[in-house]
Amino acid sequence: MSEAAHQEHHRPIVVIGAGAVGASSALALASAGHPVLMLDPRGPCGGTSFGNAGGIHIGAIQPFASPGVLWSALKMLADPQGPLLVDWRYLPRSLPWFARFLMHANARQMAAGAAATAAINHTAISAWRVAAAAAGVSDHLHEVGWLKVYDREQDFEAAATERALMRDNGFPFEVLDRAELHELEPALGPTLTHGMLQPGSLFVDNPGRVVHAIAAAAIARGARFRQDEVRSIRLDAEGCLVHTSSGDIQAAKVVVAAGAWSRPLAAQVGYRIPLDTERGYHVMLPTPARSVRRPVLYSRRRFVLCPMEEGLRVTACVEFAGLERGPDYRRIEQLLPFAATLLPGLDQTIQSRWLGFRPSLPDGVPVIDSVADGRVVLAFGHGHLGLTQGPATAAAVLALVQGTPSPFALEPYRANRF
Ligand SMILES: Cc1cc2nc3c(=O)[nH]c(=O)nc-3n(C[C@H](O)[C@H](O)[C@H](O)COP(=O)(O)OP(=O)(O)OC[C@H]3O[C@@H](n4cnc5c(N)ncnc54)[C@H](O)[C@@H]3O)c2cc1C
Repeated sequence: MSEAAHQEHHRPIVVIGAGAVGASSALALASAGHPVLMLDPRGPCGGTSFGNAGGIHIGAIQPFASPGVLWSALKMLADPQGPLLVDWRYLPRSLPWFARFLMHANARQMAAGAAATAAINHTAISAWRVAAAAAGVSDHLHEVGWLKVYDREQDFEAAATERALMRDNGFPFEVLDRAELHELEPALGPTLTHGMLQPGSLFVDNPGRVVHAIAAAAIARGARFRQDEVRSIRLDAEGCLVHTSSGDIQAAKVVVAAGAWSRPLAAQVGYRIPLDTERGYHVMLPTPARSVRRPVLYSRRRFVLCPMEEGLRVTACVEFAGLERGPDYRRIEQLLPFAATLLPGLDQTIQSRWLGFRPSLPDGVPVIDSVADGRVVLAFGHGHLGLTQGPATAAAVLALVQGTPSPFALEPYRANRF
C-alpha cells in the first residue's frame, strides 16, 4: 500500500520534532501500539538535544525568574566574560518575554515554578530508565549525580534559595568542604572552596547517541520517520491536516514537540505561547588525562565541564539572539582559561563547536497540554531541562493522547496559563 493510501486507512499520530521530547513521545506512543509518524527536517536529534550538558538534573528546580534576578542579570551583562548575552538588535522582539519573566520573579511564583518542575522531575529518573532500556542505551546513564562548585563564600551563600527549594521539594543534596570536594573529584584544582552534590541526578555521556537510539527504538516498534519540515497544521473533522515541505498528511492527532521552533505551530491551532530561545554553546576538548567523573558546574562563571564519551565538553552561555542569527563562539572560548584553572593541565585544543537553542518559557515551566478538542498535544518549552524531562513528558503525552491519568498532575503545564 502506498504511504498516502496507508494514511488514508489509518491516520497516524504525527509527532513534529525528533529531539529528546519528540523521540521519547514517539517511543511511548509506538510502545502502546499507536501508529506514529515522526517528522524532522534535521533528522533524529539534530536540534538542541544533541549538544547539551547531559545532565538528568532533577534537582535543578529553581526557576531563573526569581527575586533579585534583574540585578544579577545586569551584573552579568556588564561583565565582558559573563555568561549572559543579549543581541540588542533582537531585544525589541524579546521584550514581551522579558516583561513576563520579570512578572514571575517574585517569591510566590518562584515557589510555584519550583514545585511544578519538581513534580515532573520526580518522575524523570524512572521514565529515563524505561526509555534507555527500550533503546538499549542504559550503559550511557551514569549514577554520578550533579556537582556545583564554588570558589567564593559569597557565591555559595547566594545559592541558599536554591538549596532551600531543593530541601522543600524532596531533592537531597550534600554540602562539601574543600577536602571532601577534592576527595570526590581529585582532578579539580585547589582554588575551589565549596561543593554541592545532588546525588540523585544521572549523567548521559552522549546525549546525541542516546536520543538517536530512542528514536530508533520507536521505529523498531512500528513508528515511521520522515526527514521533512512541517509548514502548517490545520484542524479537520477527523483530526489534523499537516502540510509539510513535501506534501500533506492526514493525521489523527498531532504532537507539537519542535522545541524552540514550536511557537508558530502552536499559533496555528490558536495558542499564542510566549516561547523564546535561550541560546547556549558547547566546545569539545580532548579527554583530559585527569578528568572529572561527573558534570561539574562552576558557579562563578556558570559553565559546565562534562566528561562525555567523546571528549570533555564545556557548555556555557545564555544568549538572547533569536533563532536566525549565526553563532558567536567568542564568549565560550574566552571561558577556556577558567576551565583550565578548574582542571589543571587541560588541553584547550578545540575539537568542535556547537550552538543550541533552548526552548524557553518565561516562567521556566514547559507546556504539556491537549488542545483543539484533543486533536493536538503541545509538548515544548523545556528550557534548561529538556533532556531531563523528555521521557517524563512523553509519559504525559501518552496519557493525554489516550485520555488516561498522567504520572504527574498537568495543571501547571497548561497552554492557557499565558
Ligand atoms: C548548552 C546547553 C546545555 C544544556 N544542558 C542540559 C542538561 O544538562 N540537562 C537538560 O535536561 N537539558 C539541558 N539543556 C536543554 C535541553 O538540551 C533542551 O531543553 C532539549 O534539548 C529540548 O528538547 P526538545 O526535544 O524540546 O527540542 P530539540 O532537541 O531542539 O528538538 C526539536 C526538533 O524539532 C525539529 N523541528 C523544528 N521545527 C520543525 C518543523 N517545522 N517540522 C518538523 N520538525 C521541526 C528540530 O529540527 C529539532 O530536531 C541544555 C541546552 C543547552 C543549549
